[in-house]
Amino acid sequence: MIPTAQSIDRFATTLPAEVKATVYEGTKVPTVWRRDILERDFADPDALRKLASRIKQHTLDHLDRYLEQAETALRRRGAEVHFAKDGDSAKAAVARVLSEHGARRVVKSKSMLTEELHLNAYLEARGVEVVETDLGEFIIQIDRDVPSHIVKPIVHKNRRQIAASFEREGLGDYNEDPETITRRARAHLRRKYLEADAGMTGANFISAESGRVVLVTNEGNARFSVSAPGLHIVMVGIEKLVPTDRDLGVFLNLLARSGTGQQLTVYTQFIGGPRPQPAPAGQGVDGAEKMVVIFVDNGRSDILGTEYRDVLRCIRCGACQNVCPVYRQASGHAYRTTYQGPIGAVLSPLLLQPEFANYADLPKASSLCGACNEVCPVDIPLPDLLLRLRDRGFRQGAARAKAGTPSMAPWAFLATRPRAWRAAMSASSLGNALPLELLPFPPLQRWTQSRTLPEFRGGDFRSWMKNRSPKQGGTHE
Ligand code: SF4
Repeated sequence: MIPTAQSIDRFATTLPAEVKATVYEGTKVPTVWRRDILERDFADPDALRKLASRIKQHTLDHLDRYLEQAETALRRRGAEVHFAKDGDSAKAAVARVLSEHGARRVVKSKSMLTEELHLNAYLEARGVEVVETDLGEFIIQIDRDVPSHIVKPIVHKNRRQIAASFEREGLGDYNEDPETITRRARAHLRRKYLEADAGMTGANFISAESGRVVLVTNEGNARFSVSAPGLHIVMVGIEKLVPTDRDLGVFLNLLARSGTGQQLTVYTQFIGGPRPQPAPAGQGVDGAEKMVVIFVDNGRSDILGTEYRDVLRCIRCGACQNVCPVYRQASGHAYRTTYQGPIGAVLSPLLLQPEFANYADLPKASSLCGACNEVCPVDIPLPDLLLRLRDRGFRQGAARAKAGTPSMAPWAFLATRPRAWRAAMSASSLGNALPLELLPFPPLQRWTQSRTLPEFRGGDFRSWMKNRSPKQGGTHE
């Protein structure tokens, strides 16, 4: 299902029950595993995430220095390094590198940055064949869909839908068995690796100290993407640096546990540059002959000096999506952008600044329960950032227009006039008898399209409170 430009509420109401159930189940399991494994393996998991938060914030506070250090280290290892200010220059840099290398077929491992830049469509329009090799991303690609979760791009699909997609694409007869589906994808993709001219990956982290590029996957597809073809292109956001190799231990411990409830992601790769030429005597070597690292800004440095800078600490684990009650009801596609859930509701409007008004409803898609902050391995204060963005949206008059929220003016009118308030309260119980479509207040009609208006139970709050007060003989429960 491709997201459309409708509010999250409306999207959620039209979401098939089957999709809702699939998303709910797909997010519940890693949430439970995450909690159990962190409590089992660390005496004080909170201290670990506070440490991760400090390391990341320190890196961001000195990002210019660490970027220079990483560039020097990467060049020393034989990699070519580019910096791209925005999405257009990043995509142009990729196209240029591919063209210089005569590459027409690219195998790609999962990268949210390339999703953010819509890189596949850009390259395909220039005659380059791009094949996604992560199983979830591969299914997204053959379905011409978009990911709905940072870590599990197909969390909205069940095995029946996937089996139907494989049958449609000529990848075997209809078969819902997950192992069969995986084997068929593997057989198809192995050929693609061997035919490819270039491999493209993101980077989960880059150590500024050593220039090591760290990739984590559960399928091993990144290893094939960087080994089989002669050219390896790394697309990485400028915020993905950590100062030293030692810091990587903190983040790798947290990333796998937070995202999928694993102790460590199955394949964790430290790439130390292109294959040495000539190979040192007596040593086995592997890797691509040429490695190009493209650091992409695309709006990140505009966030760096603002009150929203904490969001750049994100390590894309997806834990905040898994626990968010809104995300679990609405699914990722409701957010209409590459990043969804609490992190997306903060990051997307900021990265898409010129169109802020179009995304000002996203920060409202939260109950502000605080669960997202509690599970975040780098302690990003997501509820605070959501509130700041709501305020900004309100000030710009954008949030109200987009989300169709009823104005507070009628409430303010009544709340400042006691007699009018009492009269309104006396009359309110009549509303229980009215069909919602007859409510004489269009904004409230819109509101109730996706929500249930609670029954008005009548009564007067002051007398209710007086009766419950211990001084008046009532009890607090
Ligand atoms: S905001 Fe925190 S919990 Fe959410 S994806 Fe980023 S690191 Fe994970």
